[in-house]
Amino acid sequence: MPPIEADLVKRLAAQVGFHACGIAEARSLPDYLDDLNYWLSHNYHGDMSYMQRNADKRSNPLQLLPQARSVISVLLAYKTPPLHSGVPKIARFACLPDYHDEVKQRLFRLADLLKEHYPEIKGRPFCDTAPHSDKLWAQQAGLGWIGRNSLLVNPTYGTFHNIGSLVIDHPTDHYDTPISNHCDDCHRCQEACPNKALATSPNGHPCLIATRCNAYHTIESHAKALPDDIHLRGYVYGCDICQDACPYNATAPLSAKLSEDIAEKIKLLVDADEETFIHLTRNTPLQRISYSQWRRNLAHLNRQPYKPSTPPLPSSSE
Ligand code: SF4
Ligand code: SF4
Repeated sequence: MPPIEADLVKRLAAQVGFHACGIAEARSLPDYLDDLNYWLSHNYHGDMSYMQRNADKRSNPLQLLPQARSVISVLLAYKTPPLHSGVPKIARFACLPDYHDEVKQRLFRLADLLKEHYPEIKGRPFCDTAPHSDKLWAQQAGLGWIGRNSLLVNPTYGTFHNIGSLVIDHPTDHYDTPISNHCDDCHRCQEACPNKALATSPNGHPCLIATRCNAYHTIESHAKALPDDIHLRGYVYGCDICQDACPYNATAPLSAKLSEDIAEKIKLLVDADEETFIHLTRNTPLQRISYSQWRRNLAHLNRQPYKPSTPPLPSSSE
């Protein structure tokens, strides 16, 4: 089986619009399994029971795809201008079209282009799907380090990016290696988190206590009400507080545009009935939650008076 030219893969990844690409050899990563087991044993995953299934496959693509030889990891950056000064807020990613489709479509295009050079190649794309950790493989492929915010920090694009993987059945002629962690003595994300959700595991690795995180409570949780000690700070879907605090995001270039009417749309969602909510959130990340979860989040926010201090919504130009 001939090795694939790594430089060609990266050129093609750029051609289909990815902002960064790295390649790791497909192999087992026992360190990650230790972190995952620690996280699960403390029930930091809350209701996300799917994280308990196939834990070994998450750390080893060979268990998922025995013929896997290489993991091509890609980033699609999405830093937008600040969203709005008002409340409620929704996380940046949710103000854009659903990234799963966009990343996957680009990965399919990348696979097609690779086939033009290597017709026998077989690959499977991932983006937040199946028991496969895109973040872990991006770190292995040298695209960044896992910061204290528990996200992949890319030196250029910070943390506002979506990650995808194309697992292929061919080796490549070069593999990237992980880069050093450059959080250094910064703790801004941990200090900014209103719920103290960013912890450290016994082996010194970043550890997100999902059950303390606004993103978990506003998106993943199906509880009828949110815990009183969860401080949304104006967010009703996701949360960007720790990412906004990160110096690497301050210097990252803008890479996505907001639609002109996003602030108006959020206002409409506040008073929307169920039918309108379904209509307005179709094909957006918000369709992941039900109307009752949306109303629950708004009700929790209303119990926590919050005065925003973010700048007013700028124009959506890049
Ligand atoms: S997303 Fe919000 S709640 Fe979650 S860790 Fe970051 S700052 Fe804390
Ligand atoms: S805010 Fe600081 S500690 Fe947190 S991820 Fe960014 S650089 Fe690392």
